[in-house]
Amino acid sequence: MVNCKLTTMKALVFSSRIYSESALRTENSSARHQLKFLETKLNAATAPLCAGYGAALVFVNDKVDRACLQILSQGGTKLVATLSTGTNHIDLPAAKELGITIASVPSYSPHAVSEFTLAVLLTMARKIHRANHRIREGNFELEGLEGFELRDKTVGVFGTGAIGREVVKNLSGFGCRILAHDPAPHADTAKLCRYVSPEEIFRESDIVTFHVPLLPSTRHLINDQTLGLMKKGVFLINTSRGAIFDTPAIIRGLKKGQIGHLAIDVYEEEAGLFFEDRSSEILKDDVFARLLTFPNVLVTGHQAFLTDHALRNIAQTTLQSLAEFESSGTCTHCVRT
Ligand code: NAD
Repeated sequence: MVNCKLTTMKALVFSSRIYSESALRTENSSARHQLKFLETKLNAATAPLCAGYGAALVFVNDKVDRACLQILSQGGTKLVATLSTGTNHIDLPAAKELGITIASVPSYSPHAVSEFTLAVLLTMARKIHRANHRIREGNFELEGLEGFELRDKTVGVFGTGAIGREVVKNLSGFGCRILAHDPAPHADTAKLCRYVSPEEIFRESDIVTFHVPLLPSTRHLINDQTLGLMKKGVFLINTSRGAIFDTPAIIRGLKKGQIGHLAIDVYEEEAGLFFEDRSSEILKDDVFARLLTFPNVLVTGHQAFLTDHALRNIAQTTLQSLAEFESSGTCTHCVRT
C-alpha cells in the first residue's frame, strides 16, 4: 500500500476542456481538492509539468506510457486517474512497477453511449445527416433519401457489458431481431436477444454494433476476413475503440459495397486528431481523409460519452478516487493490475 497521507494532494488535469473543467469545478465546489487545469496532453514530453503534483488526471488520448510514467514517478506523482472507462492509453504493468496507482471511471453512463449508438443508427437509416445539408442549401429533393426500417432487420450486438446491454434494451423497442455475442453472456439480456457465435453474428446481421474493450483479442476484429463473412451492404457501428476496426480493410469494404453504411465515433489514429479544433489545418491522415469522402459514412469525434449525466458522474467518481487515495492510499475505482 502506498504511504500517501496527504489531505491536500494537488492534482494536475491534462487535456482539460471547458466541459470537463466545468463538471470538475462544480463537483469540487467546496474546494476540497486543489485542481489545476491544462489543455496540454500528457505524454513523456509534458510529464515534467506534473512535478510536485500528487495526482495527474488524464483522458483517452493522453499517452501514459512507460517513459511518461517514469517521469511522473520521479516528480512525485502517486496517482493517475483517467476520466474514462478504458485504460488502454496507460501502461498498467509499468505503473505497477513504478508504484503509481491508476484509477478509472467504470460505467459512468452506459446510457450516454447506448443512446448515441441508437442516434447514429437512426440518423443513417433515415439519412438525416444528408437531409440536413440539403435543406440548408435550399435543396428539397427527396430522391436519394430513401431509408429503411428496423423492424425486419437483424442487429448484432458485439459485447454486452454495461453499454452493450443498454443497446440491446433500447433496440428491443424497435421489433428487430437481436443477436449478441459476449464470452460472458448476461442472463437478463439473454431474455431480449439470442447469444450466438461471432461467425453467426457476422453471417446473419444487417447491422453490427461493437461494444467491446480494446484487447489483443479484439484489435482488428473487423478485417478483410471477418468482413468477407458478412452480408453484402452490412451497416457497421463502432462507438467502442478505433483499433477494433482495421481501417484500410474498412475502406476496401466500402469501395466494394461490402459495407453499405458505416458510423464511427472512434478511429484507430484518433490520438493525433480528435478533441482539437483543426479546421484551419491541412488534414495529413490520408486514411481518415478517404473515409470522409464516402456518402454512406458518418464520423463523429469520440463524443458518445458527452452528456450531462456522464460528465457529472465522471467528475464525482474521479474526485471520490482522489479523496479516497489521499486518506488511504487506495480507492474503490483503482484499477487492479
Ligand atoms: P464493459 O467492460 O462493461 O463491457 C465490455 C464487454 O465486452 C464485456 O461484457 C466483455 O465480456 C465483452 N467482451 C470482451 N471481449 C469480447 C470479445 N472478444 N467478443 C465479444 N465480447 C467481448 O465495457 P463498456 O463500458 O460496455 O464499454 C464498451 C466499449 O465502449 C469499451 O471499448 C469502452 O472503451 C468504449 N467506450 C466508448 C465511449 C465513447 O465515448 N465512444 C465511452 C465509454 C466507453
